[in-house]
Amino acid sequence: MSTRSYLDGSAAAGELREVFAMDITAATGQCAACGAIRSLAQGHLYAFEPGIVVRCAACEHPLVRLVKDRGRIWLDMRGLVYLQLEVPNGQNV
Ligand SMILES: [Zn+2]
Repeated sequence: MSTRSYLDGSAAAGELREVFAMDITAATGQCAACGAIRSLAQGHLYAFEPGIVVRCAACEHPLVRLVKDRGRIWLDMRGLVYLQLEVPNGQNV
C-alpha cells in the first residue's frame, strides 16, 4: 500500500472555479514535458498554502500552479502546451 501525498486533479475544481467560469478540470490538456494528453482531473493535485499544483499523472511535471496572496491570484499554466475546453451546450463560438 502506497501513501499518496496528492489528490486527484478533479479536487482542484473549487480553486480554479474562482478564476474560470467553466470547470476546467474536465478540459483536456497536453503536458509540455512529456506530451501526454489527459484531462486536468486525471492529474495529481498537490495542495499547499497558499496555493495548489496540478502535476501530470504520467511524468509529474507541473501543469497548473495557482497561488493566492495579498488579494491576488497568480496562475501559471506554462506546463501545458494547450488546454481544450468543451463549449457548453455545444454552442458554436
Ligand atoms: Zn507529462
